[in-house]
Amino acid sequence: MQGILTAHHDAINSTPNSANSPYAPDSRIRNNAAPPAWLITMDAAVTTNATTRPAVKPELVCPAGSLRALQMAVDAGADAVYLGLKDATNARNFAGLNFDDTQVRAGVAYAHARGARVLMALNTFADARDTRPWFGAVDTAATMGADALIVADTAVMAYCRDHHPKLRLHLSVQASATSYEAIEFYRRHYGIQRAVLPRVLTLSQVAHLARLSMVDIEVFGFGSLCVMVEGRCALSSYVTGQSPNNAGVCSPPSAVRWQHTPSGVDARLNGVLIDHYGPDEPRGYPTLCKGRFDVAGERGYAIEEPTSLNTLAILPELISIGVKAIKIEGRQRSPSYVEQVTKVWRTAIDSACAAPQRYSVQPAWSATLTRFAEGQQHTLGAYDRPWR
Ligand code: SF4
Repeated sequence: MQGILTAHHDAINSTPNSANSPYAPDSRIRNNAAPPAWLITMDAAVTTNATTRPAVKPELVCPAGSLRALQMAVDAGADAVYLGLKDATNARNFAGLNFDDTQVRAGVAYAHARGARVLMALNTFADARDTRPWFGAVDTAATMGADALIVADTAVMAYCRDHHPKLRLHLSVQASATSYEAIEFYRRHYGIQRAVLPRVLTLSQVAHLARLSMVDIEVFGFGSLCVMVEGRCALSSYVTGQSPNNAGVCSPPSAVRWQHTPSGVDARLNGVLIDHYGPDEPRGYPTLCKGRFDVAGERGYAIEEPTSLNTLAILPELISIGVKAIKIEGRQRSPSYVEQVTKVWRTAIDSACAAPQRYSVQPAWSATLTRFAEGQQHTLGAYDRPWR
């Protein structure tokens, strides 16, 4: 038992898919069999994990919306990059972004040559009328040498489990798994080896899951926030008929209109006015959730104010509670964003691991992140709930 866990949760300082890597396939964990005796009681699981999982340097997982962004992330110190295809299998199916097969192959070669891993986000829910694009994307990822898939749909997980049993599965944030039992369900039935937690949990809830779960825990470290329970947004489908959950878009490009007016620019989504910007005002990504509306005579962000999650201040705590990977949001952002944010987080993680007692958030890090933050402001999000 201890041998299994030690091998699976080994430190991540090895080359991709080497025998000691946490990415090395472990068929003992991926199976449909009834849980072994050691999994039956939660107490046993707690004890086992607490004694076999030393704190290790978390993997820095960075966004790649293009081959250029991937290269910059790797060069700036990302341990892993995540990318998606140019279709609805990818929850960031934005115009002008993402990878075709040739680019995936080139990206995998570039990352692997430098010791970094490539995770493919295949994290929308398959269309009931035709699942072939999703299953085909799994085949593509396996053929191109991706190190893991980031998945949300159990149909996609089952296909991967049955057809590519050696391909590692990470549970996408889109699956909205927030409890030990939910994560364990995906591990037992589909063999997931990592869960990306939704950005709705407190630090003590994350610690609880990191202690209990038999899989690695990944959390978001920096980037735009989403107001919905992840994977459950119906806002954009309300006005456009398409949603992030199955089409991969919050605001389909075909539905977005920027209309110049004498006082500035109107942002419309499928004809619905969602914001108005003054002539020199910076424009945000035009989503319904971050639109400004007149409510009871006051104009403002009625649903969500643009701001970015920034967990630099609690990085040592995240490491000490056993978080195994920290994700940077932003596949829709520029290669320059990816490079600058990756550099800050590489330095911060290295510094927090080298001397946790002396760790402090450097002003230069905060200045860089503020420049790239949505609305130029940060929050600790759900981690900071003083009333709890
Ligand atoms: S529309 Fe807004 S709330 Fe819905 S998924 Fe997109 S960012 Fe999140």
